[in-house]
Amino acid sequence: MEETSNGMEKIVSLCKRRGFVYQGSEIYGGLAGTWDYGPLGIELKNNIKQLWWRMFVQGRDDMYGLDAAIIMNPKAWEASGHVSGFADPLADGKMFNTMFKTSVGAGEEATTAYLRPETAGGIFVNFKNVVDSFHPKLPFGIGQIGKAFRNEIAPRDFIFRVRELEQMEIEYFVQPAEWKEKFEEWRKGVHAFNEAVGIPQSAVHELEVPDGERAHYSKRTIDFEFDFPFGRKELYGLAYRTDFDLSAHQKASGQDLSFRPEGEEPVVPHVIEPSFGVDRTFLAVLASAYTEDEQNGETRVFLKFKPSVAPVKAAVFPLLKNKPELVAKAREIYTNLKKDIPQIMWDDNGNVGKRYRRQDEIGTPYCITVDFDTLGETPQMLDTVTVRDRDDGEQERVAVADLAAYLLAKIRV
Ligand code: ATP
Repeated sequence: MEETSNGMEKIVSLCKRRGFVYQGSEIYGGLAGTWDYGPLGIELKNNIKQLWWRMFVQGRDDMYGLDAAIIMNPKAWEASGHVSGFADPLADGKMFNTMFKTSVGAGEEATTAYLRPETAGGIFVNFKNVVDSFHPKLPFGIGQIGKAFRNEIAPRDFIFRVRELEQMEIEYFVQPAEWKEKFEEWRKGVHAFNEAVGIPQSAVHELEVPDGERAHYSKRTIDFEFDFPFGRKELYGLAYRTDFDLSAHQKASGQDLSFRPEGEEPVVPHVIEPSFGVDRTFLAVLASAYTEDEQNGETRVFLKFKPSVAPVKAAVFPLLKNKPELVAKAREIYTNLKKDIPQIMWDDNGNVGKRYRRQDEIGTPYCITVDFDTLGETPQMLDTVTVRDRDDGEQERVAVADLAAYLLAKIRV
């Protein structure tokens, strides 16, 4: 019988123990709202980002990628309304602007600038550059993954509400008349991404954000909420930003940011913005994967990651650590596999049962054991290994020559 536990403390403790996420600046007592991604965390995070990038940027002909500077000319944030409006209410009702201020330059030359509170700003100021370089047709979009900073009044719930966050954002530029149709397309795109990273549809709920509660730039917003262990909270947002940003930047910069379809009147495109938080995706993927079941009469904790996001795709073991011929064969198999599948791990600590537990706990989908049959003790099994499946514990005998192809076919899904 399988049971999914929702204890947040269990997830936080597993993350620290097994090297997914550590408290930021921990040896100095930490710094509120900051977290550091450890060796397994960075692999999981990169897998999530790569999946997103492949799905929404590389996988489409109407999308362009971008990596804009974090510190922008402050005039951009004045024009977008963030300097005057990006604020949260304090307990005593006083509004507090949550943009992080910094200064650029030295001495009297120094000027105030901001760390970007969302990656979107960098996309809008590059709209004209991308149009001039690539001459796309409407609709088209620009996608970007990067850090954003918000001086949250009350950071909390592990990596859910942090002060240094990462976003994956798309500004999708459309003809004003087609915004509803494109909004619906991106709504489906959000669900497709959840499916790809292993966030179950049943735990995601759409919330139509009512008038008066939307961000200052939005005419329609859907929040995609997830059932986090601490409650139902926003995972992603999908907003119709109209021509608010391009028109505001056009006015403030004096640059023409209209789009000129061939033979048609110039138009300032309207924008559909799907905005994904990397840290919240990471947490939702972890919470969705966290599972406890019973195997061989013992409680087992395992992360049921989709193989495509799992930080370690497979682990290779010699059955016994003190048999040089087993270790040498296992090493050879490990080294060869690593060329095709870099996210692979070597483990020869303790007995095989303990290794399985350890790999289950970090969500490794496949464990490969090199035993005496691999070396030919049973002649017809020469050069075969045992591949054990994380979820059901089933074992299969696979020829070493087929191993890379066997694993690659499984981990791409
Ligand atoms: P919230 O209402 O939870 O403060 P928001 O509506 O301000 O979020 P957006 O401005 O729409 O968030 O940002 C887009 C996405 O960026 C969010 O859906 C979320 O995934 C992520 N995000 C925003 N703020 C944070 C934060 N402080 N920590 C982690 N992720 C965040």
